[in-house]
Amino acid sequence: MRKPIITTAVIACACLAAHDAQALQPSNSVTKASPSSIVFKGARVIDGTGAPANENQYVVIQGKKIKSITAEQPKEIAAGSRVIDASGKTIMPGLVLGHAHLGLLKGTSTSGSNITEENDIRQLKRYAKYGVCMVMSLGDDHDCIYAVRDKRNNGLIGGPYVMTAGHGIGVPNGAPPLETGADEVYRPTTIDEALKMVDDLVKHHVDMCKIWVDDLDGKAEKMKPEMYKAIISRAHHHGLKVASHVWHLADAKSLVEAGVDVLAHSIRDLPVDAELISAMKSHGVYITPTLAVDDSFYIFKEKPDWMNSKFFQDSLEPGVLDYLKSEKYIPSERERKAAAMAQKNLKTLYDGGVKVGFGTDSGGLERPQGFDEHRELQLMVASGLTPLQAIQCATMNSAAMLGVSKNMGTLAPGKLANLIVLDADPSVDIKNTERINSVWIDGEEQQ
Ligand SMILES: [Zn+2]
Repeated sequence: MRKPIITTAVIACACLAAHDAQALQPSNSVTKASPSSIVFKGARVIDGTGAPANENQYVVIQGKKIKSITAEQPKEIAAGSRVIDASGKTIMPGLVLGHAHLGLLKGTSTSGSNITEENDIRQLKRYAKYGVCMVMSLGDDHDCIYAVRDKRNNGLIGGPYVMTAGHGIGVPNGAPPLETGADEVYRPTTIDEALKMVDDLVKHHVDMCKIWVDDLDGKAEKMKPEMYKAIISRAHHHGLKVASHVWHLADAKSLVEAGVDVLAHSIRDLPVDAELISAMKSHGVYITPTLAVDDSFYIFKEKPDWMNSKFFQDSLEPGVLDYLKSEKYIPSERERKAAAMAQKNLKTLYDGGVKVGFGTDSGGLERPQGFDEHRELQLMVASGLTPLQAIQCATMNSAAMLGVSKNMGTLAPGKLANLIVLDADPSVDIKNTERINSVWIDGEEQQ
């Protein structure tokens, strides 16, 4: 994935022989500035707002933040700045991942017992290499996630920022299924119990409350509306947003009516209709389509070319490639149909003006962390979104959904320098997000 490092020049006050250095000669007025400034010169910039790319930009990073993005050469460049020739490169915001799972998978085993600080941090490093600068672990978490999140927020570890829904709230003997490793999920039997669980999640300062509303293809009991209404109301009382796993159109409508904030998957049984679109818009509800998760349950049987790519294989846990190529991997016809419905519904919802965020559900056995985020962008474009619209969902919209827009999601002065440098332009071909040259989080190049 990594290409040789792009040309760099360091500006020193006394020695300005290089072309770059002459062009960016620092003014005396800023010699006191931090020597940690980095200047990308000549880059194409996609800012994440959905606006077309701007050619030939100077992007200046100072410390953790973006200082300026200008077409003209900045007048003030700090002494000691590192200048990176980014001509021919494209810079876009780091991906803001609103639905994933940390720590569950280790090798080919998916289990709550795999969730440790060490496994979470190992997986975060992988996400970083693939350009993800925020990971929302949306339920199934163990208590150790709180320590990982707090260490990241306090700067004790680097890599992507972390948010969590903690354990999440599901149904006894129902969703999420235990065989997916969801043995850490709270499964209340009464509303009173559920409310205490919400209070417990709040005590741990979870960033969102996750619930599961699904009958698992008719095989399990679904969370009752009175239960999720009570959970949503209690969470909102605490100022906490609620995201729900969902599959069916009828449940989506009922959840939106009950005040849910995020539909964490696509509607996959029926075409969405005007009633849902209108309700989602009037309540300001987001959806994260997670097209990659439905894709992952049948696509590998078709042995797509990209299975041979380094970009794909580098994202896999040991043993997973063999599993995906083996007879043990059984494609699901239900999921194939669900994937087609999900894509059709994404286009209808998007065109209808519903807020679309970004999620993949990566972190399960068939759902490689890092790769899936790029696959998701491609599937969003295959659904009919333009590349710039898909990128906007994955950056600006997703940051708004998670409430972190102040710091990330778009490239603008004052935002954290969380960005991906690409060797090719993804607004022309979304596959070009895979051509990662370097990833920067908090102004630091990720290794
Ligand atoms: Zn999930």
